[in-house]
Amino acid sequence: MRAMTAPGYCPREVYQACTNSVSDPGLRFRLNAVVESIVQSGEEYLDKGPTGQLYSIASNECDNDTVVTGHVTKKELKDVYSFHMVPRTKPARSIYDSLVASAPFGRCPFCGFGHATTLDHYLPKSKFPKLSVMPLNLVPSCKDCNSGKQARTPTTEEEQSLHPYFDQSHFVECQWLFARVLQTSPVTLQFFVSPPNDWSETSKSRVHAHFDEFRLAARYAVESSSQLACLRDTLAIHREINGAEAVKQHLNIEARSSSLQYRNSWQTAMFQALANSDWYCNGGFL
Ligand SMILES: [Zn+2]
Repeated sequence: MRAMTAPGYCPREVYQACTNSVSDPGLRFRLNAVVESIVQSGEEYLDKGPTGQLYSIASNECDNDTVVTGHVTKKELKDVYSFHMVPRTKPARSIYDSLVASAPFGRCPFCGFGHATTLDHYLPKSKFPKLSVMPLNLVPSCKDCNSGKQARTPTTEEEQSLHPYFDQSHFVECQWLFARVLQTSPVTLQFFVSPPNDWSETSKSRVHAHFDEFRLAARYAVESSSQLACLRDTLAIHREINGAEAVKQHLNIEARSSSLQYRNSWQTAMFQALANSDWYCNGGFL
């Protein structure tokens, strides 16, 4: 997970930028009449996000035609996003684009490697329609993270994946992602989560939830396999010139520099695991 600065957009302005482009005057009137309810939902989100309490926001487990606030149905609120923020012809699309563009180096903050090309509703609009255009609920994401998420909504703090706008400090500063070398031919890596012992049980559960939610074990294994293939030739040259110790030294340097950039990237976990494997450094990479 990559920490991000939370977007500075005002929820009221974003909602109204969307509803202003509704051409049906009756619908526009009804949508504008519930703006205070939308703003209130945004305030609750801002209140609960920083303390990991988003799971406690009440969901709307109703069908699309049910009225969820004022005289507005669930579908009409979801459509504010789908028809008035996403389409390139709508004025509020500029907000959408700006949120996507805020991803660090264009990478998805959930997995850390996919291209951020879309927005993910941290709390899904299918269950939280009043948050469909709430800026803090819209996180840049790659398509795999966005579409691969489990449909289940967390009901406890422990079940929540990490939120790039709120979950920073120890989730970013302490290492919890690791890998182990499997002595296969070619070599493969198994990624796993091992949070620090002194963390609370809630924090430990949340990094596990994040890792599982985005299927990171399998996806990091695929990403690392191509990097491992590239490493072969570089390491063979180090070994030829200075032996296995030079291989280990090269990998340790890569691990340190990766760790300085991101403590919990798959690259940091990969280089550490490789450097710590005598089997790999002694020719397992060939
Ligand atoms: Zn992703």
